[in-house]
Amino acid sequence: MQLLKDRIIKDGKIAEGNILKVDSFLNHQMDVAFFCEIGKEFKRRFADCEITKILTIEASGIGIACIAAQYFDVPVVFAKKNKTKNISGEVYKSRVDSFTHDKHYDIIVSKEFLLPSDKVLLIDDFLANGSALLGLAELVSSAGATLVGAGIVIEKAFQCGGEIVRGRDIRVESLARIKEMSKDGVIFG
Ligand code: 5GP
Repeated sequence: MQLLKDRIIKDGKIAEGNILKVDSFLNHQMDVAFFCEIGKEFKRRFADCEITKILTIEASGIGIACIAAQYFDVPVVFAKKNKTKNISGEVYKSRVDSFTHDKHYDIIVSKEFLLPSDKVLLIDDFLANGSALLGLAELVSSAGATLVGAGIVIEKAFQCGGEIVRGRDIRVESLARIKEMSKDGVIFG
């Protein structure tokens, strides 16, 4: 998506540890008109699919998923980062390794909001090592729902996530794929 690539070049900042900061339009301040273009592009790419629900993960995925959901006309469910210990039974749970915070956490979703009849599209801001997507995919599988695919805004293709997730036969559509990233800038591919 050329608009996104141009925006990354213009406003993206490369930080320590292979982190791309896009806080001025995606991860902190949110450019809603730009999110609409992202939402339309996800809809165009998944136009051939029946989707009943969008599933994302708190926090950065929520804004993008909500705007995208307007084009699919479906509800958004976001997986919560688990803080309570004794709620098993009513929730599906999986484990995610955080790329940006260097720790593990559980994510949960209420059984009430993921049903075996659901056809689920995952949406997230970044794909790096794939842990967030795999954690979400596990929630879908625990619910007996169908995983349609994953819409990612920025895939860091120099990390292993894309290969791992696609290797599990999950369809991944990334709107920008970064092949290389250094202090001199990004190269798409
Ligand atoms: P993964 O689970 O694929 O390793 O990492 C994906 C998650 O880590 C995303 O939900 C995103 O929030 C965060 N993330 C990974 N790489 C980056 C990055 O370069 N920049 C930002 N802002 N977030 C990232």
